[in-house]
Amino acid sequence: MTESEKKVRVRFAPSPTGYMHVGNFRTALYNYLFAKKTSGDFLIRIEDTDQTRFVNGAAEQLLQSMNEMGIIWSEGNYLKSQVKDSESQKLVESKTYPNTVEIGEFGPYAQSERTEIYKKYAQQLVNDGHAYYCFCEPARLNEMRENQQKEKRAPMYDRYCLANLSPDQINQKLKEKCPATIRLKVPKDEIVEFDDMIRGKVSFNTSNIDDQVLLKSDGFPTYHLANVVDDHLMQITHVIRGEDWLPSTPKHILLYRAFGWEIPVFAHLPLLLNPDRSKLSKRQGDVAVEDYLAKGYLKEAILNFVAMLGWNPGEGSVQEIFSMEELIEKFELEKVHKAGAVFDIKKLDWINGQYIKKLSADDLLENALPFFTEKDFFAKASDEKKTDDYLKRVLTVEKERLAKFTDVGEENKFFFQDISYEKEMLHWKTNTSEETIASLNTAQTVLDEIPENDWMLAKIEEKLLAVAGDKRGDLLWPLRMALTGAQKSPSPFECAWVLGKIETLKRIAEAIKKL
Ligand code: GLU
Repeated sequence: MTESEKKVRVRFAPSPTGYMHVGNFRTALYNYLFAKKTSGDFLIRIEDTDQTRFVNGAAEQLLQSMNEMGIIWSEGNYLKSQVKDSESQKLVESKTYPNTVEIGEFGPYAQSERTEIYKKYAQQLVNDGHAYYCFCEPARLNEMRENQQKEKRAPMYDRYCLANLSPDQINQKLKEKCPATIRLKVPKDEIVEFDDMIRGKVSFNTSNIDDQVLLKSDGFPTYHLANVVDDHLMQITHVIRGEDWLPSTPKHILLYRAFGWEIPVFAHLPLLLNPDRSKLSKRQGDVAVEDYLAKGYLKEAILNFVAMLGWNPGEGSVQEIFSMEELIEKFELEKVHKAGAVFDIKKLDWINGQYIKKLSADDLLENALPFFTEKDFFAKASDEKKTDDYLKRVLTVEKERLAKFTDVGEENKFFFQDISYEKEMLHWKTNTSEETIASLNTAQTVLDEIPENDWMLAKIEEKLLAVAGDKRGDLLWPLRMALTGAQKSPSPFECAWVLGKIETLKRIAEAIKKL
């Protein structure tokens, strides 16, 4: 079967750390989009062979975040809570992650459960002369490296064990259970070349590649061996991963060659950068998808933003807002950029704002409520300012300027608490107290005429504008100040509408009393 006829199979292969880095999330998303676009399979493989980095609950957290973000895989470990009963006959209990089950023909999907497989393949490479046992102790390796550093040479294993040990000596050491690693015998001075779907032709000289350890003395594989063996056994056709893995790819290609296996297509995604073009790091802001969800960014907006970190539909397209369906339709791996993608939080704010604007009042409330309840000004507000109707009015007004839900109410606390301001603030330009009082009286009369059940934004605006004539500032400035006590706020119509008739008239009366 030729490459183009084969069913696409891609994988997301995280080493769980307890949170979903945005870079990893982008890798998962692009894999998912590519699989969807090509009607291929998308699986999750948990790369958990580095026991020193094991974090309890991290794998489950990762599955949870993927699920929450709507990136659904078709094979691998699933949270039990995720799986429907109708699928139960295909489920296999996970040995390592008790809250998960596995679905798929190519399991186990957690690498820590596949160690026997890796051992077998490492042994095969030794038998075929592509790999060799190394019994060097850490002390010798350290000394070797220090010497190489002093001589300004790249650290490389000096092949002591390959050059000096006879088969009998090796067998003897193995019998004595001497700690041993298995190293790949990297051919010297060969060019490894491959066509990366994003980066184009990439080539490496093997002389710069160390004899990689494939199997560690504790019996666990290194990333290189496990990754290649699994990509082969799981019939992965396209390896889509971050550019930081590019230096590993020639090593992987050497392994595929040594095994005599077909080499998958590679696509290395551009690095994510801070605005100063340094590599995206925690130091300059949040890097976990969970952090952005916690701050009140909508998952559709995060998804949209992350999809555009290194990709756009090209050909003069100015579209910036994409639903998942549109992304699936328009995404092309070939159009992913080579250059690093800047993580610009202002862009995320803008995209999130676009999604917020489109939410219905009910959805706004549902998203905003958890954030309101964390606010001090909300906790202290009276009960009538905590009703669903009241909050929906606040949100309807705020949504035009809201970048994220953590900001709810922050710019407009006057909707929730008593206000205080200097009476001079009530004057429009050089108006006198008498003129200001007259304006407030007019506003009061007009608003009082609107029945409570007709307290609509359009009505309030229409009535006030009708009496303001061409002297809008004279009427509207004192009114806005009386209602908000703030230099900046939504329009007085909106403020009156949110506050409701009773509170509006009360605040106007208080302002008049001040003057
Ligand atoms: N386990 C690697 C990671 O954490 C996977 C890299 C790859 O996709 O090959 O990103």
